[in-house]
Amino acid sequence: MSQLIWAETPTNPMLSLVPIRLLASIAQRRNIPLVIDNTFSSTYLTQPLLQGATVVVGSSTKYVGGHSDVLGGYLVTATPSLLTKFRFLQNAHGAVPSPFDSWLLIRSLKTLALRIRQHSLNGLAIARWLQETGIPSGLVRKVNYPGLNRGSSETRSQRRERELAWSHLTPHAKKYFSQQGFSIDSEGGFPCGGMVSFHINSSIDDQDRLQDPSSTQTSEKFLEGLELFALAESLGSFLPSSSRL
Ligand SMILES: *Cc1c(COP(=O)(O)O)cnc(C)c1O
Repeated sequence: MSQLIWAETPTNPMLSLVPIRLLASIAQRRNIPLVIDNTFSSTYLTQPLLQGATVVVGSSTKYVGGHSDVLGGYLVTATPSLLTKFRFLQNAHGAVPSPFDSWLLIRSLKTLALRIRQHSLNGLAIARWLQETGIPSGLVRKVNYPGLNRGSSETRSQRRERELAWSHLTPHAKKYFSQQGFSIDSEGGFPCGGMVSFHINSSIDDQDRLQDPSSTQTSEKFLEGLELFALAESLGSFLPSSSRL
């Protein structure tokens, strides 16, 4: 018998969405908790507790921290009995943030909304650019961004995903993006996070043409050629080009 349902949405790195409300109704019927890993959307864009989740987990190293100077994670619940258990475990194991880490995170939270709004506008712009220029030129095979509207080439599952992405937005995120002129059916799509992933068309390279399509050679070449984006473990920060690692 299952003890809990655990899901990550959007997933890292394919940006697939999991229907939170549907999972919440299944969890409720079975009387088990639903845990949602919310790292990629952050608490600004999605608040799974509002959609029926029991616990939200996330990495505060990434968007919440936003400055690459703190490591941490969070657990959010509105269930008092679970909160008591979490507090007991924190106290018993001692895995709690230091006062300095807590101070850094409080500093970070003050700009979370502003940063996520901009990350999301930037994310959509890059996803659209890859879709509108990368695919026609044959360099890109597929773009993953849940809010992307591919117009007439959109498949039914991509449409479902886009509608789900809009339904996962918090009321304040929807309000802000609506004020910016976006809606669920905006041409080109709507902002819903700063992460974008895409598949490079590996057949663009003569030397790759005869190889396995899963070959990573083309992607490696692409990554090595980037100037603004650094190869990094974390997301959610910024790295001025003058301080490239
Ligand atoms: C990175 C990541 C984590 C783990 O976060 P750390 O702070 O690096 O330990 C958990 N969930 C998702 C979806 C992530 O992308």
